Amino acid sequence: MKITDKDILGTDSLSALNELVSKCERCSLFKTKTKDVPGVGSETARVMFIGEAPGKDEDLQGEPFVGRAGQLLTELIESLGWQRKDVYIANVLKHRPPNNRDPKPEEIEACWPYLKRQIQLIDPKLIVFLGRHAMNRFFPTLQISKCHGNAFRKELHFEEPDSRLRGNDKGGGGNDPRTISRYGAGKGGRKQVFLALYHPAVALYNGSMKETLQTDFNKIPKILAKIDEEKLNNNGNQPKQQKLI
Ligand code: SF4
Repeated sequence: MKITDKDILGTDSLSALNELVSKCERCSLFKTKTKDVPGVGSETARVMFIGEAPGKDEDLQGEPFVGRAGQLLTELIESLGWQRKDVYIANVLKHRPPNNRDPKPEEIEACWPYLKRQIQLIDPKLIVFLGRHAMNRFFPTLQISKCHGNAFRKELHFEEPDSRLRGNDKGGGGNDPRTISRYGAGKGGRKQVFLALYHPAVALYNGSMKETLQTDFNKIPKILAKIDEEKLNNNGNQPKQQKLI
């Protein structure tokens, strides 16, 4: 089925968006899928976790982060006293690349409007990247070894993915009328708080990395509290990248 950016950005709910994913042929990954993996969790989640792409277990079950790395993610979420249904978990790609190969640029570009619309619909207080690959789809120049565990606020423009793939994270697309009004369409997007974590798969076989991941994860409630306190409101004059914690 031919699905346009306008179709995706015109959806008014996650279920409507998921329906489009189930019919999507915007890139070739639909040909090798077992199940659709659009995302799971609450439409009103305050925290949205974003990984790179579904793997084998996710493709079989139709849910992101359900393999061993996913079990660790679930443990980490539960360690905060939450459940998976309290947050939203998605990937940049909604269908699995065969044999877990790296996504191709054209696949990222084709799928990008789905993630964009998910973020718009959920409007999370905090976006948490699970691993450097997901983070670098948004901010190609950031290094996870330097920024993991440190929340930061940056403009969220939803620039076209090809500019990110060229290594340009300086924004753009702020005048895109598809950037819906709650984000200040035409005014350069909004400030969004992000946190980058190491991918749970990296921590599975590395005790010290697991400890680091847990330590970083434990900061999430504190970051949310800071956002809630509105001590971090955007005054329009903040630097592009601002460390919060
Ligand atoms: S990966 Fe994304 S763009 Fe490609 S077919 Fe699946 S939903 Fe469509």
